[in-house]
Amino acid sequence: MDIYKDLKLDESDLLKFSTDAQDWVQANGVVMRNRDHSHLINFAPFMLFPTPFPRYLYDEATLVQKDFQTLSHLASLDHAFIEESLKSVIIHDEFTKRQFEIYTEIKNGGFKPKFYFNITRSDYMIDQIDVSADSGKDRAYEIKQIEMNMIAASFAGLCTKVQKLHHFMDDIMGEKAPYKKENLPDVNTIGELGAGLAKGWQLYNEDNAIMVFVVQEGEKNRFDQRLLEYSFYESLTKLGCKIHVPVLFRSLQQIHIDGKMRDDNKFLLEGKEVALFYFRAGYTPGCYNEEAWQARLLIEKSVAVKCPTVGEQLVGTKKVQQIFALPGMVEKFIKDEEAVKRIRRTFAGLYSLDPGAEGDASAKLALDNPDRFVLKPQREGGGNNMYDDDLVEELKRVSDPVERSQYILMERVRPPTVKNYIIHVDFEKPILADTVTEIGIFGIFISEGGKEIVNSPSGYILRTKSIEHNDGGVAAGRAVLDTPNLI
Ligand code: ADP
Ligand code: MG
Repeated sequence: MDIYKDLKLDESDLLKFSTDAQDWVQANGVVMRNRDHSHLINFAPFMLFPTPFPRYLYDEATLVQKDFQTLSHLASLDHAFIEESLKSVIIHDEFTKRQFEIYTEIKNGGFKPKFYFNITRSDYMIDQIDVSADSGKDRAYEIKQIEMNMIAASFAGLCTKVQKLHHFMDDIMGEKAPYKKENLPDVNTIGELGAGLAKGWQLYNEDNAIMVFVVQEGEKNRFDQRLLEYSFYESLTKLGCKIHVPVLFRSLQQIHIDGKMRDDNKFLLEGKEVALFYFRAGYTPGCYNEEAWQARLLIEKSVAVKCPTVGEQLVGTKKVQQIFALPGMVEKFIKDEEAVKRIRRTFAGLYSLDPGAEGDASAKLALDNPDRFVLKPQREGGGNNMYDDDLVEELKRVSDPVERSQYILMERVRPPTVKNYIIHVDFEKPILADTVTEIGIFGIFISEGGKEIVNSPSGYILRTKSIEHNDGGVAAGRAVLDTPNLI
């Protein structure tokens, strides 16, 4: 995998290539707001060379996306399953509890959506497999699912551009290019998601209804969101839509102030009927105050299409991921045996920390071998997981098993490292680092009346980080944008 390790690049070439690449990303809007000064714009960090990624794993990750979307959707409709899965978590985890209460209120109130529409992203890291004679394994690498993102999966816009950058840089570097652009995917991820959103909007079937991006105030990753908005417009035009559909970017707090539901359950925001709420916020407790929770509930009750519903968001919790790994749980929802196999082979070890002998044994295992595990709370957005000393400290602190059950334990995936250059606005020069990568496969899912209308993989993102960082995505400032160099 470490295909660039013997690369002999002299300083002047490195400087030229990195300058060319930086110019390209700035000229083409691969940008984010500065973390400290939000009126300033920086280019988003990226890898100079696309990271090698086994082609068969890329294909497997793409293939299983459809299965995961079916699984997530069916599980989200099963209130008893969600309740049973999360019952231990919600005793101490107020954030998950509030979502579960909305989910229950919707079910009890008989508010059944006509359509389900999702943009999901399933993330994987590569696990190195022991292929020694007695291990019984013959593949050097496998993909292990890190998590299923059911809400606010981001970076499709910027990653699609970074793929173009890596195609372009092959031409610029000529003979000296250490990879071939023919080996990079040529997927229009942002185009696929924009087309998905356009279909989502069309489902509602009201020409005058608008689209709402639910966002955080002061969002740093605004341009990635706007790229999706522009792709949405383009897709509508391609679909033959003659009108301009307004897209509003509003926080849950603003929606609380300016939104209301009519007697026929149509949602009006600033006086305009809403066809689709697309959430790029609402995944973390910081997005909510009391008013924001009320807005979320009202949206959920309305007939507007929601990407996602609160039930789908709950299926994306780490706890439900751990429950899926239990015997019989995938099989409860998926009857196709091949699909079950495809799903199950991506599971890393997942362990419950619930009260009881099993949870106690998991906690002990982790305390004895902290380097083999990750401790995960029910949170999204990066920077919440615990490793090594932090894991030990936290497991010792939560001596009450009921409190402990808001976490799950996950086997730590050991990805192969690759030497490659990180280009980051914080560094004057490209940084040569040992890196590991994580692929995310996007998907679009639509169902109506219990029937899947659309269920397809829809492109990817690749994020790569220095091995010095255990956790964190691009928004958290750890990982950088990348393209798989399929080998
Ligand atoms: P979040 O919802 O905060 O994104 P994730 O489960 O995706 O939570 O974890 C965040 C990051 O932590 C991942 O992007 C990955 O870099 C790292 N990570 C998570 N789980 C594991 C694991 N089992 N093994 C190794 N690294 C992991
Ligand atoms: Mg993640």
